[in-house]
Amino acid sequence: MNLKELLQNQPRYKQDQIWQGKFDSHLNSYDQITTLSKDLREKIKDFPWLSVKPILLQKSKDGNTVKALLELSDGQTIETVLMGRVNKRETRENEFRYTICLSTQVGCPMNCAFCATGKMGFKRNLSVDELVDQYRFWQRHLAEKDGGEVDNIVLMGQGEPLLNYDNVKEALNLFIKYGKIGQSKITMSTCGVIPGMKKMIEDSDFPPVRFALSLHSAIPEIRKKLMPSHADNFFEFLIDWSKQYHAKFTSRTQFIGLEYSFLSGINDDDKNLKALIKLASKLGRVRINLIPYNDTTGIFVGSDMEILKKWQKKLMDSGFTVTIRLSQGQDIAAACGQLRNDQIS
Ligand code: SF4
Repeated sequence: MNLKELLQNQPRYKQDQIWQGKFDSHLNSYDQITTLSKDLREKIKDFPWLSVKPILLQKSKDGNTVKALLELSDGQTIETVLMGRVNKRETRENEFRYTICLSTQVGCPMNCAFCATGKMGFKRNLSVDELVDQYRFWQRHLAEKDGGEVDNIVLMGQGEPLLNYDNVKEALNLFIKYGKIGQSKITMSTCGVIPGMKKMIEDSDFPPVRFALSLHSAIPEIRKKLMPSHADNFFEFLIDWSKQYHAKFTSRTQFIGLEYSFLSGINDDDKNLKALIKLASKLGRVRINLIPYNDTTGIFVGSDMEILKKWQKKLMDSGFTVTIRLSQGQDIAAACGQLRNDQIS
């Protein structure tokens, strides 16, 4: 029996006490959750307090990005990344704001051509504990480092979140309830899994976290080459789905994020720009994130920054909100698309 199964037989308030204790970065064992009865503490004392074990930490040269290689109970490994950024606008004593990038699967079955994780193949889905414990691991790391806190969570690490739907949904709800992370501070990114996208619209328990789509080309043939999982009718589906998305998530802060990595000579010409403008204009509230590509495959080359700036201007002139992502951690292969556990393979 695992901890989740054991807790199912416990009253709701006891489950709350256990999760509150697990999310408290000052506690290091079930025994320290003093709100629990001695009996219950005895019963659960052999369940692992943390289901992930750090085996390697790498820090970028500027010190702002840390990548952790974590070992799971069956010996599999995953990577997760902490990114710190100075934010002087706010008044919190610690001027750093921290974003963590979490993995959702061991490896990934989607095999996107530009992604190091895709080359690893798929091993298995991560459990709820393994998802939550990546957060708890960084929470503890920050508490020891400088008393900082996790400000944002992005599900953009290894794996496709919507292929691990139930566990991801449960972990998101736990982050919001016990991690005190606002739903607008969490972003789930998908390469566009149609059944999962349909399910999250129909599912009343799916939390209203931010949604991002890895787009990378609005021309079907080019996207299919980059992302073999691209379904033939995906863009027609997306246009229809976006209406349902906006009808369900009505807040003005809720938008569809479109992620676009720039691959020189592949998806960065005027034809692609036109196609993006045409598609994005049919999707309601969108924000477009232009991403400098970090090569890992030896196949692709990132576009010049001038091209990203030109796209940004043209897209803004067309009325879109557009950002160019500040890439962090390239020197330790911690940037977008670079995660591959290569220290041990
Ligand atoms: S980009 Fe995301 S979905 Fe595609 S192979 Fe990499 S981890 Fe999987």
